[in-house]
Amino acid sequence: MKLLNKVTLITGAGKGIGAATAKKFAEEGSKVVLVDINREDLDRVADEIFEMGQDVLKVIVDVTKRSEVLNLFKEASEHFGNVDIVINNAGIVQDAQILKMTEDQWDNVIDVNLKGVFNVAQAAAILMKEQGSGVILNASSIVGTYGNFGQTNYAAAKWGVNGMTKTWAKELGKHGIRVNAVAPGFISTEMTENLPEKVQEMMKSKSPLNAMGTVEDVANGYAFLASDEAKFITGTILSIDGGLVI
Ligand code: NAP
Repeated sequence: MKLLNKVTLITGAGKGIGAATAKKFAEEGSKVVLVDINREDLDRVADEIFEMGQDVLKVIVDVTKRSEVLNLFKEASEHFGNVDIVINNAGIVQDAQILKMTEDQWDNVIDVNLKGVFNVAQAAAILMKEQGSGVILNASSIVGTYGNFGQTNYAAAKWGVNGMTKTWAKELGKHGIRVNAVAPGFISTEMTENLPEKVQEMMKSKSPLNAMGTVEDVANGYAFLASDEAKFITGTILSIDGGLVI
């Protein structure tokens, strides 16, 4: 097991990549703190992990609210004693082309995908500095390097996540804290499974592997970057995109 007896806090753990990552980390021996804005989703994932025999704490938090994030870290460290790994996964999309994007669409995506990542990482860094070690992993996207039609707000946020990842790697290395990000491409989720067959085929065909990624592919990337196998890796953005953009 790669992550035996570690404590991992994952935001947006109620579904999609976050839920798959929580299960992967539990399989690898990590205790998990599941964080989400949605109670029903969180309960379902927590039950699955509990049935696997792993220690799990669930906390309802909106990552855009600084006071809730500070309380989260207090609760997690009181419950488990420490937090070794933090995965900043919570994210949303509210797409529109620049000519039509509303101020709310801009603010909402920047709030969750950029400020939320800052809120959680800052609270994590304060705790990890005291511990003298830690790993922070951020959810970026290929859109954070290449942009995407209809995603001004999302591209700005993910570009920011890449910048923050490299900045924090430089600032926090001296405290024994590694900081990295993953940049998924087209990943098969509830949302993409409901797209027309033709659109799914088009997405697949863009990868030299002629496939969509799975949530487990992303979870595996996080597990590697969190583990000691990656102990000399910091400040990197790991593409998990089937070669989509080479
Ligand atoms: P998802 O299925 O929509 O899951 C995101 C989770 O985060 C949901 O449970 C959501 O709750 C929760 N959340 C939303 N706002 C929150 C907030 N303010 N505070 C706490 N939790 C909140 O997303 P996903 O597709 O797995 O993506 C996960 C991450 O990977 C995101 O950062 C995304 O940008 C990135 N990513 C995904 C893909 C992809 O193809 N799926 C590709 C590249 C990057 P609600 O459902 O109630 O809103």
